[in-house]
Amino acid sequence: MCCKPERILALVLVLLLAACDSSQRPDAFSGNVMGTTYSVQVVDVPSAVDDAKLDSSIATTLNGVDTAMSTYKPDSEVSRFNQSVAGEKTTVSDNTLHVIELALAVYEQSRGAFDITVGPLVDLWGFGADTRELKQLPSDSAIQAALDKVSVAAIKMQQTPPALSKDKNVEIDLSAIAKGYAVDLVAELLEKQGIKNYLVEVGGELRGLGHNSRDQTWRVGIETPMLERGNAFTAIPLAKGAVATSGDYRNYISLNGKRYSHTIDPRTGRPVVHNVASVTVVHASAASADAWATALDVLGVPEGLELAEQLDLAAYFIIRDGEQFSSRETAAFSAYTATAK
Ligand code: FAD
Repeated sequence: MCCKPERILALVLVLLLAACDSSQRPDAFSGNVMGTTYSVQVVDVPSAVDDAKLDSSIATTLNGVDTAMSTYKPDSEVSRFNQSVAGEKTTVSDNTLHVIELALAVYEQSRGAFDITVGPLVDLWGFGADTRELKQLPSDSAIQAALDKVSVAAIKMQQTPPALSKDKNVEIDLSAIAKGYAVDLVAELLEKQGIKNYLVEVGGELRGLGHNSRDQTWRVGIETPMLERGNAFTAIPLAKGAVATSGDYRNYISLNGKRYSHTIDPRTGRPVVHNVASVTVVHASAASADAWATALDVLGVPEGLELAEQLDLAAYFIIRDGEQFSSRETAAFSAYTATAK
């Protein structure tokens, strides 16, 4: 084949056009992190953004949270704090300190329903990192021994340099807030790159802005709380905000024909026992939505619904009645779905 100069030019042009054609650009980045999956959908990405760099900064951001806050990693900041003894200082990152500050604020406002020092109880009930199948219910004395270690008041925070210590043996578990925080970090990363249309999801916690590739407001389904995936009980728009759900339909243990949820009531030391199958919270921050979904799941209905109304939280409760489900929502949730088109 003879390579005439005009043919070579035409070929180069086609290749260049192909490279610049935005429809060729990836519109989603995904992977695994924190024992679950993540996906980041983006639309109308500014041409100056390098896709490969964006992909790796998303992964680096998520892995950073995993490395610092995981109870599944023995050398994470959280694990080093959990292994430390009373009075010993554990150096942590600003991110970890910030997440703990937010967790303690939700602890206060939720009257202790959201408590990151439930770690020993999570392990006792077989939901922790070194999970072993629960063969029999923990004894009352074992529950009391674990409850004695539940005390957010024992956590001491130092701002500069960021560090944690404790004045008695407590262990923290950030499983109900760190995934949401990771979603917030990725959303902020995208906005810094000038990306105004995105949907970030890590293990079911979501944050969205703008519209999808069909120019419609993002819509996210609230699952029917059953083991089978993909059954939306309802769906909500997500033009600007975050949503998280907590419930007993995916992460639970069955023992002697009874279901035990991975959501633990720190006031009793036992998995929650009520007819709330799931709680969904819409909030500006995914970390807050994540934490409040767990807190309201502990409190259930009516207590959780009443507190959410008092705090003007946008919350949606799905209640199990045998095989049937019904729902209750706060005024803030109704207002959100009515306006967020
Ligand atoms: P949520 O309702 O959001 O959180 C429930 C979890 O919070 C419980 O499982 C318990 O750990 C804790 N909790 C229970 N009750 C309370 C309470 N009253 N107050 C506060 N917290 C409570 N899983 C793996 O299998 N492998 C991994 O390597 C792994 N790494 C992880 C790393 C990080 C940084 C995080 C945050 C989680 C990791 N996980 C891992 C856990 C996994 O992602 C969990 O399923 C998830 O954290 C539970 O979230 P959820 O959305 O299902 O439930």
